[in-house]
Amino acid sequence: MASFSTITPIEYLKGVGPNRAEVLKSELGIHTFGELLQHYPFRYIDRTQFHKIQQLQPDMPAAQVIGRLIHLEEVGERRGKRLIGHFKDDTGAMELVWFQSIGWLKKSLKVGAAYIIYGKPNVFNNQLSITHPEMELYHPGAKQAGNMSLQPVYSSTEKLKKFMLDSRGIQKLQAALLESIAHHLQEVLPDYVLQKHRLMPLPNALVAIHFPRDRQALAQATRRLKFDELFFIQLKLLKNKLLNTQKFRGHRFDVVGRRFNTFYSKHLPFSLTNAQKRVIKEIRKDTASGAQLNRLVQGDVGSGKTVVALMSMLLAVDNGFQACLMAPTEILAQQHYNSIKKLLGDSVASVQLLTGSVAKKDRKTIHAQLEDGSLDILVGTHALIEDSVRFKNLGFVVIDEQHRFGVEQRAKLWRKNHTPPHMLVMTATPIPRTLAMTLYGDLDLSVIDELPAGRKPIKTLHLYESSRLRMFGLMKDEIAKGRQVYIVYPLIKESEKMDLLYLEAGLETLMKEFPLPQYRISIVHGKMPVKDKEFEMQRFIKGETQIMVATTVIEVGVDVPNASVMIIENAERFGLSQLHQLRGRVGRGAEQSYCILMSGQKLSKESRLRLETMVRTNDGFEIAEVDLQLRGPGDITGTQQSGILDLKLADLTTDQALLNEVRNSVIHILENDPKLTKPENILLREYLTESEPTIAWEKIS
Ligand code: ADP
Ligand code: MG
Repeated sequence: MASFSTITPIEYLKGVGPNRAEVLKSELGIHTFGELLQHYPFRYIDRTQFHKIQQLQPDMPAAQVIGRLIHLEEVGERRGKRLIGHFKDDTGAMELVWFQSIGWLKKSLKVGAAYIIYGKPNVFNNQLSITHPEMELYHPGAKQAGNMSLQPVYSSTEKLKKFMLDSRGIQKLQAALLESIAHHLQEVLPDYVLQKHRLMPLPNALVAIHFPRDRQALAQATRRLKFDELFFIQLKLLKNKLLNTQKFRGHRFDVVGRRFNTFYSKHLPFSLTNAQKRVIKEIRKDTASGAQLNRLVQGDVGSGKTVVALMSMLLAVDNGFQACLMAPTEILAQQHYNSIKKLLGDSVASVQLLTGSVAKKDRKTIHAQLEDGSLDILVGTHALIEDSVRFKNLGFVVIDEQHRFGVEQRAKLWRKNHTPPHMLVMTATPIPRTLAMTLYGDLDLSVIDELPAGRKPIKTLHLYESSRLRMFGLMKDEIAKGRQVYIVYPLIKESEKMDLLYLEAGLETLMKEFPLPQYRISIVHGKMPVKDKEFEMQRFIKGETQIMVATTVIEVGVDVPNASVMIIENAERFGLSQLHQLRGRVGRGAEQSYCILMSGQKLSKESRLRLETMVRTNDGFEIAEVDLQLRGPGDITGTQQSGILDLKLADLTTDQALLNEVRNSVIHILENDPKLTKPENILLREYLTESEPTIAWEKIS
């Protein structure tokens, strides 16, 4: 008897063969028995629910009807071409409409036959219709769909359908597959985990997800399979975290020394918020432990991450180490440098800035100072990671606005000392908790969840073009009070020319409304040479200009506390987290600040929701949740490359409770048996050895 397993190539499955195997590979990426098994249904049709044509309403999400296909006709020309099927039951008639695969449908649909159709009813010109319905021949009396009340629906493609692999065809393969390997399916979780979490055994779950007996069985199977998806991600992440702390000795910072204390008592111009204090304490605890610090600091815009970074770096310097801070853009690096210089004065520690535009001569000096140890803190862009930049004793690395950097770049920083430096990652884009737990589950997480006292919440307005004069009025009022204003235009990669046109047209109106010499305007856009950009930015920062017109280059991190108005043109074209970032550029002083979202009259449902969310709340975490729901985890900045979000059933937006349960379970397991050597954990140990955890350098976030 042939022995099958989940890694058996798919062509060996009964009913597949070389041709079908080829399309399964090319269309669905299915190469093996196991991969087919994981091609789960995306929906189930409740075969107990049928409607009559007379009952169909356009507001129904979808309906299932039994009737007869009376006639097929092709109408329209070229792009308007479509196939219309006249469909009838004993209560009425309707149309079935197809715009695609017309030739193939004409061949395969049987005029005169009875069908079960499924789709969303529409009414157009008083005519009831369903566009691209799912069609299945109806055999009265026969065991329809294996006599199940819930029929699985699998995603398929036109090409697969030509090989008779529509949803029904795939279902047949699944049946054959389960028959051939049902006896070889093995449990992957220990018994005590199954019992504790009341999980359906894996073999049963795999059968039930494809052929559910009823809703309850389906729900149990789904829960079990989602549990596994999340469980093994967490197991890997948390095991890695454990390994990292065991394996990588970290530089030990024993003292809180002179510089830290001098800064704290003499230079710090404000008192720290409790959240800032807490995070600094967490960092102190990590760096005193002798293990490697690997921490993500999340804090909303304006929560004061820079000073936390600075104090951590001073801690390093006090203990005889150097520190560096890497920012994603030149402007940001410059700003960090300026604010750190300003905060430190000249006495506390030596600081330099290194970016691509630093002159060769100065660069040489910096290199020399780094190597002989006379430079304490280096701020810069990715120029920091170049091989020519060598530290005498790098002990602490801060990476700001983490999502702009790749894992590779971070790994390079790690390698700049024999014992890797501590690594603090700061992100200004709040990430929903579920996503953070999944993406950064192996980093410790600190959250600065408090804004400095005395800040007034930013008032956000959404205005249409017709209210432009009101917007100008508000600008003038604020400028009259001595405040400054940002105006941001969208930047769309596909047509930089168009962007510039928008910006220029806007500028023309603006200059008429805000004439010289009373008003002065800075302009910054992506097409300008870096030096000019820098010059314009500095004029605004110094208060020489009152209005800053820009494309989104100012998005991240720019800090001009005197600016009190953020105007975003074509706000409907920005993503939520971007809007929130931009708004965070104001509200940094004690004054009332405003964010004005300008948009056209016509808005898509999604744009409207984005703008409404912005008006409703200033809370970055709440905004991140909405963003996650709108875009899904794959699109949230910086997560695209991370394969760990390749979840088939689990959904990070809706499965929060399950994720918590899973994570706690894994934490509990590892606490009791960190090396997974106990007999009851043998399955877990085997899983990890087989999947060869990628630890060390590449695994820092
Ligand atoms: P972000 O977290 O967005 O990077 P910054 O570190 O740029 O925020 O801080 C925003 C502004 O708030 C800066 O002007 C900074 O000097 C100021 N700030 C930071 N912490 C405090 C505090 N505890 N009290 C008052 N102002 C603070
Ligand atoms: Mg910042």
